[in-house]
Amino acid sequence: MKIAMVGTGYVGLVTGTCLANMGHEVTCVDIDEEKVRMLKKGKAPIYEPGLEELMKRNVFEERLTFTTSLAEAVKATDVIFIAVGTPPTEEGEADLSAVFSVAKEIAKSADEHKVVVNKSTVPVGTAQKVKKIIKENIKEGIDFDVVSNPEFLKEGMAIQDFQVPDRIVIGVDNGRAQKMMDDIYKDVARPNRPIMFTDVKSAELIKYASNAMLATRISFMNQLSCLCDKVGADIKEVAKGMGLDSRIGSRFLQAGIGFGGSCFPKDVSALSSTLEKHGCSADLIDSVSSINERQKLIAVRKLESLLEIKDKTIAVWGLSFKPRTDDIRESPAIEIVKNLLEKGANVKAFDPVAMKNAKKELKKITYCKKPMEAVEGADALIVATEWDEFRNPDFEKLKSLMKRPIIVDGRNIYKPKSMQEIGFEYIGIGR
Ligand code: NAD
Repeated sequence: MKIAMVGTGYVGLVTGTCLANMGHEVTCVDIDEEKVRMLKKGKAPIYEPGLEELMKRNVFEERLTFTTSLAEAVKATDVIFIAVGTPPTEEGEADLSAVFSVAKEIAKSADEHKVVVNKSTVPVGTAQKVKKIIKENIKEGIDFDVVSNPEFLKEGMAIQDFQVPDRIVIGVDNGRAQKMMDDIYKDVARPNRPIMFTDVKSAELIKYASNAMLATRISFMNQLSCLCDKVGADIKEVAKGMGLDSRIGSRFLQAGIGFGGSCFPKDVSALSSTLEKHGCSADLIDSVSSINERQKLIAVRKLESLLEIKDKTIAVWGLSFKPRTDDIRESPAIEIVKNLLEKGANVKAFDPVAMKNAKKELKKITYCKKPMEAVEGADALIVATEWDEFRNPDFEKLKSLMKRPIIVDGRNIYKPKSMQEIGFEYIGIGR
């Protein structure tokens, strides 16, 4: 199948590369000329384990190309995926301007039947709008289909998520589009992990419902973590006991400094807007967001109970919103650093891969080459991202390097009792 992938960010580049790796001919399109230049040189503009190697192989074997020309890509392909960003507007809705502008350009360049696939996360009803835009701009007599194929990949695990997905959801409204989508994905499907074909609107909503449910579980545990702190229970034990119930399961029950990233916060907020727009109450979803907002700075509040932050040196381990990615969008770690700076702290930070991105947003901090360099002379350490390399440091060395051995474990990765035995003033979340 000849495929165009419009938007080569975290989703488009991974999906485009993985589709090429399955034997399809894929052209990745982006308006960012610098990005396309890098890609043509075989460099991935993002950190995603295994991606660059896979990209290079598929470029070498001539299944994967990059261009800034959407018109040429549309003419040369049968199926065009839209994987551009849908960031939040000031009102918290999804900004669909890039999706609509790409849809218009596709329509203008189409010279024969095309399948246009919405892969970007878009509110229910967007496919209908995309259809209208294409209809208004396509040459008379040329037929097209609009399909919804939401993406569920997790940054840091994106290639594996493509190759062994829990599910592939495809919203279609006719057999021809269904057959073409089946041809694209049939080799990824497994007997216990089928392609779920459904109607377009349900497919669009499945994406928001899934992210909002995962975010709800996190906010639920964060709310309970406050009670654990007050009464002396341990939220990790509570989560373990809950997770053993097969109706609940153990995943996404971690209390901590809240969720971030380019998806959960914006998707929860966009779902709230959509609910309200349709006259439905969004109170549960709104609480998920407000609990999360409150939770982001809990590490700073807890630290303030032990020391005055002004003029202190605070080390921060981790800047990305989660491990195995360089993505800092909506990262609680970034919020924490900004808040520490506002309060007059000197911040020394370390992250294995996200410092390059962080430097664009956080200027007035010291970036360190190693985790131990960041804690030298620090009055406290905040662990903000649960990178594996932070899990088992040489605790004695860590303690000896710090001015005062306070650890605020924003991701609950250490055992409180062991930390206290070593001599740390340990603060977890809900422990
Ligand atoms: P991103 O910001 O990393 O990438 C978007 C890309 O689109 C950028 O490279 C940008 O230059 C390009 N672009 C913007 N306008 C364009 C245009 N008119 N023509 C061509 N290219 C254009 O975004 P992302 O994280 O890959 O997310 C893309 C979509 O997928 C969003 O809707 C997001 O919600 C959704 N999604 C993201 C993830 C994730 O983990 N990042 C997971 C699932 C779904």
